Amino acid sequence: MNEKETCYMCSEEATSKEHVPPRCLFPKESELSKGVSMRKNLIKVPSCHVHNSSKSKDDEYLMFIMSCAFQGNEFKSSLFEKRVLRAFQKKPHVLDTVFKNPRKVLLRESEDGKPEESISFEADLDRVDSMFHHMACGIYYHHFKEKWLGGSKNIINFLSYLDVPEVNLMNHQHSELNRFSREIFHRLESYGDNHEVFSYRAIKGDDGEAVIFLEFYEQLRATVLLS
Ligand SMILES: [Zn+2]
Repeated sequence: MNEKETCYMCSEEATSKEHVPPRCLFPKESELSKGVSMRKNLIKVPSCHVHNSSKSKDDEYLMFIMSCAFQGNEFKSSLFEKRVLRAFQKKPHVLDTVFKNPRKVLLRESEDGKPEESISFEADLDRVDSMFHHMACGIYYHHFKEKWLGGSKNIINFLSYLDVPEVNLMNHQHSELNRFSREIFHRLESYGDNHEVFSYRAIKGDDGEAVIFLEFYEQLRATVLLS
């Protein structure tokens, strides 16, 4: 490693490489059919000790909540069955820390009037925001070869509002924003060598502000505004 290389998130010397997004989101070869690899040329950025090793628990948390979303392709299902379910079987207490305030929710009513139910749980939004901030900064560094040291805001399509006034209106606006963002971003070139698991698109203005569009398992999406 180049001695003068510094961390993608700060000015400290880089001591390791961090995967962006976390490597645990990509199925291992042993979890897939023979000859299939979903870990081709994973993106890595130089990182200091604080910005890498301190967040391995967060990486696991992100894997748990993404794998439980109802969107996603077979690679997400495989991650849930082969890794997440096993982790919960081995360490049942993790269930309580990850799935806060679980309750039944009505997803929709089918045409014959039968309700389709699922379980909702409360996501740790500060933690989720921090994870998406790190990932967007990592992609920014990887793609534009510059650091983003400012803040961020995100829109995440696999989270919904539950306990807010005018919840239906809020969720409608949230899904419209996600749909609009997807329509715009899908016109841009996408990057990533394992696009069934992860791909990104990025656009930057002259002032350095940018929007990073992250897509996981072809259906879980986050639009992160760096401004
Ligand atoms: Zn750092």
